[in-house]
Amino acid sequence: MNEVEEVKARLDIVDVISQYVTLQKAGRSFKAPCPFHSERTPSFIVTPERQSWHCFGACGTGGDVITFVMKKEAIEFSEALKMLAERAGVKLQGRRESSQEQRRRERLLAANEAAGDWFGELLVNDKAGAQAREYLERRQIDSAAAKDFGLGYSPAAWDGLRNHLRGIGFEDEELLRVGLLLQGDSGLHDRFRGRLMFPIRDERGRTAGFGARSLENRDASG
Ligand SMILES: [Zn+2]
Repeated sequence: MNEVEEVKARLDIVDVISQYVTLQKAGRSFKAPCPFHSERTPSFIVTPERQSWHCFGACGTGGDVITFVMKKEAIEFSEALKMLAERAGVKLQGRRESSQEQRRRERLLAANEAAGDWFGELLVNDKAGAQAREYLERRQIDSAAAKDFGLGYSPAAWDGLRNHLRGIGFEDEELLRVGLLLQGDSGLHDRFRGRLMFPIRDERGRTAGFGARSLENRDASG
């Protein structure tokens, strides 16, 4: 288990989010008016089982406890992790003051982590993820296995991921550098569109990049 996983495992997302939002129990989940957009009818859902949150309203996005704190406090991944590590009583190793280049590298990894969380949320929750869910069902990969493998779904839109990551403080330049965006003829756009996503892990178990599988011609490709 890496540090990020350890911090997440020791915290309950419901406790953390309850500090910011009054959650109401709704079956196996909790709901509240979304803290990220203005609404009267609650469409912000926290699911303890998956330790995730999702706004089914205007935001149409979600993530884990770290992305929640990043978004709510408007801070970077490393700051949010530090804050939550203190709360969880986890001592972060090897995170001494780093050089600018190390910091840049950390941010690129953080962008990948955040992208992976977003893809994972869409695979579970999004209408558009249905095709990917069917694909996995046919291969008898259940949701627990999909979560273990870190599988996700990238929507067919051109700017879904870009908007999400910019919304939590990443710059276009970083997203280009890490390969999540491409420079097209008419501007920047998401590189992965309408794909089943799987993370490529580095030696420390962090997301170094993504593999993607087309869901089209699925009968022909098996
Ligand atoms: Zn929202």
